[in-house]
Amino acid sequence: MVAQVIDGKAFAAKVRAQVADQVAKLKEENGITPGLAVVLVGEDPASQVYVRSKGKMTVEVGMNSYEHKLDAETSEAELLALIDKLNTDPAVHGILVQLPLPKHLNEDLVINSIDPAKDVDGFHISNVGLLGTGQKSMVPCTPLGCLMMLRDHHGSLSGMDAVVIGRSNIVGKPMAQLLLGDSCTVTIAHSRTKDLPDVVRRADIVVAAVGRPEMVPGDWIKEGATVIDVGINRIERDGKTKLVGDVDYASAAERAGAITPVPGGVGPMTIACLLANTLTACCRANKLPEPEGLTA
Ligand code: NAD
Repeated sequence: MVAQVIDGKAFAAKVRAQVADQVAKLKEENGITPGLAVVLVGEDPASQVYVRSKGKMTVEVGMNSYEHKLDAETSEAELLALIDKLNTDPAVHGILVQLPLPKHLNEDLVINSIDPAKDVDGFHISNVGLLGTGQKSMVPCTPLGCLMMLRDHHGSLSGMDAVVIGRSNIVGKPMAQLLLGDSCTVTIAHSRTKDLPDVVRRADIVVAAVGRPEMVPGDWIKEGATVIDVGINRIERDGKTKLVGDVDYASAAERAGAITPVPGGVGPMTIACLLANTLTACCRANKLPEPEGLTA
């Protein structure tokens, strides 16, 4: 079997176009422009790149982008005061604090100081609890993007066996909750899982979120399974720097029914879902119907 490639880049462009349509409608019919505030503390080069592209895409879909760049020595009190201001600013519907934060700042405390209704990353403890109990919440962007691609490919996921490799709070755990919400039978595998190949071989859906280059070889993949590769790993090969996933793409594509490439799979969906979440937060704040197909 040669796998169908799930084109995350094209899918993300479709999601962004949908968001842009809805934003235009909100402006025209309700006089409302959704606003996303992104807070960056320090000068981490990767974070700077992410923040820049988030700002650019926010503006491209017609939303207002508010960037707050604070220096690396910013105190916790200063950061919390800014978040407090954004929490009460009616022009701001989504707040994202770019992680990781410098070591002297308590990430949990900072994230939990964001108004849960504006927590477009879905990391606030209230949103984690709401998702875990199957209630309406803000859903973390990367797992939401994976879910959208899976629903688009399969229609219903009901009854499918899903294995999520990785148990992080930002990808693995919320991904498992979302798959459970769509009635999959879910296994969460991690670094202590016994006989990981055997666990993965049972799966109709494999979501790999580990951070280890090409650790899942093709012979772990059940014939016809759908493989979602969240991993983004920078490696040196043939004297060049290359991005690869957590799955060995070439061998997995020979057995899978469908697979996301790296780059061009899950990555582009993450920012598209951030914009979708900001739109959702804006609609909820204004008691307007939520955009269809853009939430869990
Ligand atoms: P993390 O380091 O927080 O978690 C990794 C998880 O993998 C852990 O739960 C650990 O138990 C598990 N693990 C480690 N070694 C393992 C092994 N040998 N076998 C099985 N499980 C093992 O990472 P994360 O933040 O969840 O990110 C995972 C990957 O996804 C990274 O490559 C990251 O860059 C990528 N990522 C991509 C996006 C995106 O937008 N595409 C977003 C977030 C993360």
